[in-house]
Amino acid sequence: MNEDHIDGAGLFEAGATLVDHGGDATWAEGPVWIPALRAVRFSDIPGNRILQWTQDDDQVRVYAEQAEFTNGRTLGHDGAVIQCSHGRRHVEIDRDGTVTPLVERWNGHRFNSPNDVVVKSDGTVWFTDPSYGIKRPAEGHAGNLEYRDHWVFRFDPESGSVEPVIMDVEMPNGLAFSPDESLLYVSDTSIDLPSDEPNPSGAHWIHVYDVQDGRLCKNGRIFKMIEPGLPDGIRVDEHGNVWSSALDGVHVYNPTGRRIAFLRTPLKVGNLCFGGEDGRTLFVVATTRLHSIRTTVRDAAQMLRESKAGEPKRDRSRRRVRG
Ligand code: MG
Repeated sequence: MNEDHIDGAGLFEAGATLVDHGGDATWAEGPVWIPALRAVRFSDIPGNRILQWTQDDDQVRVYAEQAEFTNGRTLGHDGAVIQCSHGRRHVEIDRDGTVTPLVERWNGHRFNSPNDVVVKSDGTVWFTDPSYGIKRPAEGHAGNLEYRDHWVFRFDPESGSVEPVIMDVEMPNGLAFSPDESLLYVSDTSIDLPSDEPNPSGAHWIHVYDVQDGRLCKNGRIFKMIEPGLPDGIRVDEHGNVWSSALDGVHVYNPTGRRIAFLRTPLKVGNLCFGGEDGRTLFVVATTRLHSIRTTVRDAAQMLRESKAGEPKRDRSRRRVRG
């Protein structure tokens, strides 16, 4: 039996073990695999730095300092890195080291401190907006809740529209779509209040919503409670399994909510992503360090993106003309 994982569904490669790539983060978050660099970029939020591990030499280096407290990140369809910034209270693009704002306000109000972000196959950008970055001195700059709540937003770069899509999650944090994008999973981590006051009755679970017309979230319900710890970052694989961070490692649930695998890590996990050349390596940021392990599955979003990239483009323009 492997000491670092329990696998009831063949999700880890035979003989796979957890690899420690090092790192000296204060609290690591927001990993993304960047194919062009063969690298994983991730945030050290309290360190106010961005770190980057390169596969070719297995080294973690400082990519940026005074980075305005970045948190979650993902890849845009053009390969640029889209990331959340607590310090700037917006979502931004890093294109070859040049950082520009992507979405800054809703209805004139600044966001709280965008936490995690995904790009849907139609190019829209969905992100969570809890208040950790404006209420915790170590994770951003002090500020007020300008729209007085914590929501999940959808930004359409084509039209420029910004809309709240989920308003009834107390402290939205990680998010991920199901393989066909008919479901959106959003974690609620209100057990961990930005004020750091104890909140034992707070949430540490993953909600799931039906996505209607590709842009509306309805019928929210609890998918799974995560313990010990909380579901900070989550990912969905090509079979619809939900991979969640937890205090003791990574917990994997099938679409019905049954736990089918568990990866133990030495330190608390903040977030995770799939990557590597074939997309089947799971990268896990655990408190200070980056780990990886080989799996048999890929990220649902990456699979969908590749399948849509193969579709004839004229189909899309025809639909648009007919309106
Ligand atoms: Mg998070």
